[in-house]
Amino acid sequence: MPSIKDVLSAAGAISKGMGITFKEMLQPTITEDYPDAPPNFQERFRGGHLLQRDESGLEKCVACFLCAAACPSDCIYIEAAENTEKVRISGGERYASVYNIDYNRCIFCGFCVEACPTDAITHGHTFELASFNTSTLVKRKEDMLVNIPALPKPIVVHEEVAAGH
Ligand code: SF4
Ligand code: SF4
Repeated sequence: MPSIKDVLSAAGAISKGMGITFKEMLQPTITEDYPDAPPNFQERFRGGHLLQRDESGLEKCVACFLCAAACPSDCIYIEAAENTEKVRISGGERYASVYNIDYNRCIFCGFCVEACPTDAITHGHTFELASFNTSTLVKRKEDMLVNIPALPKPIVVHEEVAAGH
């Protein structure tokens, strides 16, 4: 038979636990209502990768292979090509004509992002990557490359204003 001391100790533990429960019941709900509502990502969340462009629309990747060298899963495949006078794809001498990431192997460690000297590769917030067909998990450059940024609207100065009238 439990002693009085044990009973008091158990009652104290239960009342402490219930106190925390009731206190939390009065707090605002922070549970995400996924998939009915889109998740609210923290900025630092490491989702599917993006290949970035500079402000002129050129690709930031200069095919230096540092991301592939840093990847512990060996899941980045790059083929480099030279920019020419007629065709310029990136701001450097070379660009990635092929850039694949195999999401069958990627562990979202972020080492590729840290290794990139031009901030060309970043993590986006896509996360619903699961598939029954593993061949669809090899993402190509075209899947990851961000759109060309919209050019700013030209400022129209009317002749009268320009002349100070
Ligand atoms: S996040 Fe990690 S595992 Fe995935 S491609 Fe980058 S370095 Fe490789
Ligand atoms: S993404 Fe960055 S690190 Fe990788 S090849 Fe391109 S420039 Fe180099």
